[in-house]
Amino acid sequence: YSSTELTRHFLERIKRLDGQYNSYITLTEDIALQQAADADARLAQGDSSPLCGVPIAHKDIFCTDGVRTSCGSKMLDNFIAPYNATVVENYLAAGAVMLGKTNMDEFAMGSSNETSFYGPVKNPWDTGCVPGGSSGGSAAAVAARLAPAATATDTGGSIRQPAALCGLTGLKPTYGRVSRWGMIAFASSLDQAGPLARTAEDAAMMLQAMASFDAKDSTNVDHPIDDYCAGLGNSIAGLTLGVPKEYFGEGLNPGTQAAVEAAIKTLESQGAKIKEITLPHSHLAVPAYYVIAPAECSANLSRFDGVRYGYRCDNPTDLADLYKRSRGEAFGEEVQRRILVGTYALSAGYYDAYYRKAQQVRRLIKQDFVDAFKDVDLIVGPTSPSPAFAFGAKGKDPIAMYLEDIYTIATNLAGLPGMSLPCGLVDNKPVGLQIIGNYFDEARMLNAAHQFQ
Ligand code: GLN
Repeated sequence: YSSTELTRHFLERIKRLDGQYNSYITLTEDIALQQAADADARLAQGDSSPLCGVPIAHKDIFCTDGVRTSCGSKMLDNFIAPYNATVVENYLAAGAVMLGKTNMDEFAMGSSNETSFYGPVKNPWDTGCVPGGSSGGSAAAVAARLAPAATATDTGGSIRQPAALCGLTGLKPTYGRVSRWGMIAFASSLDQAGPLARTAEDAAMMLQAMASFDAKDSTNVDHPIDDYCAGLGNSIAGLTLGVPKEYFGEGLNPGTQAAVEAAIKTLESQGAKIKEITLPHSHLAVPAYYVIAPAECSANLSRFDGVRYGYRCDNPTDLADLYKRSRGEAFGEEVQRRILVGTYALSAGYYDAYYRKAQQVRRLIKQDFVDAFKDVDLIVGPTSPSPAFAFGAKGKDPIAMYLEDIYTIATNLAGLPGMSLPCGLVDNKPVGLQIIGNYFDEARMLNAAHQFQ
C-alpha cells in the first residue's frame, strides 16, 4: 500500500468509528494527506526508514506547529502551537504521518481519562470501562485500530497503565532518553515520552525514531542510542528476572495476579532465571509521588495566567481578578486539587516537612532499584492492580485513583525505564505484565517482551 492509501484507510476508520471511543481531540486530515504524499515521494526515491509513510497519532500534550495543542484542557482549547515538539519533529524526519491529536486526562493528571475537557475516552475492549490514563486516547486509538501506533507520555504510569488496560505494548524510556522540548510540562523531574504500540517490535521502531539527544532540553542525556530492533530475536536464556515481593501484596486482583504469574512461568520456560527480590520502600512511592508531582505541577502551571495565551475570563476587573477567574474557570477539579496540594507542600513553613521529605524518600526508592539491579537483569511484575474499571468507579475518590499507580510510579521516581505488554485476559479484559529495566537498558526490555510475544 502507498502511504496515501494507508492514511486514507485510517482517516476513514477514525471518522466512522471514533464516535464510539472519543480517542481523538483533533483530526489533522489535510496535514496527514500532505505528509503521506511527501512520504510516498520519499519511498519512490528508495527511502527505507521503517516508519516512512506510516500513519501515527500524537498525544495532545505535544506541541504541533499550526495545530491546536489542548493538553486535554479548556485552558488550551484555543491554543495553536507555533512550533513542533522535538518528538514530533523526529517523527517527521522519519517520514511518519500525523493522523491527529489524541485525547488525554487534563494536563496528564489522571489514570482513567475521565478528567479531559473533551469528555472521557472509552476502552475499545469494553466501552463501559475506562481506557486508563492519562494517555487513554492514544491507547484507545491503537487498540481500536484507529492508528497503528501513537506517542504518549508517562509521569507516573500514563503510558504503561493504559497499555495494560487496552492490551497494548507501551514503553516509558529512561528519564532523559527522549526530549521533553515542546511537551507540555506536568512534573518536569518525572515526565518522559514514549510509544504506545501493538507489539514490542512496533514499540522498538517507534522508540528508535523518538529517541534523540536534544540540547534544547537540559535534562536530555547525551547517551548512545541502541539499535532497539537488532536484538529482538535474541534468546532470553540466562537472563535473571527479579520478582519484587512487594508487588504481589494486598490490593492485587487475583485474576491479574494469576495472569502475571503465568507470564513469569512462560519467561522461565524460555530459560530466564527467576529470583524473588525486595524493593522495601515500595509502599512510600505513591505518597512521595503525590507530593512531588503536585509540587512541580503547581510551578509549571503557573504560566497559565490568562495573559500570554490560553483561556482568558470575560471582563476582568483587575489583574488579580484576571488570574483568579481565568484559572478558576479553565482548570478542572483534579488540576485545581493538584495545584492546591503542590502550593501547600512548597509553602515556606511546610517545605521541609513535605517536599524535602518526599525527595529524601525518592532517594531511598531509587536506591532499592540500584541494589536490586546488582543481582538481576530485569524486574517483572504487574503493571496495574486490576483490569479496566467502570466509569465513575474511582473518579469520585482521588486516593482510590492514585492507588492505580502503585506499581508504576516508583520507576518514574527512580528515572528508570518501564514497559507494559499484554499477558492475558481477565473477564475478557486485558492484563499487563510490567518489565522494569536498568538505566538505558530499553533494548534488553524490548528483547524480553518480543520473546514473550
Ligand atoms: N496517574 C498519575 C497522575 O495522575 C500519572 C499521570 C501521568 O503519568 N501523566 O499523576
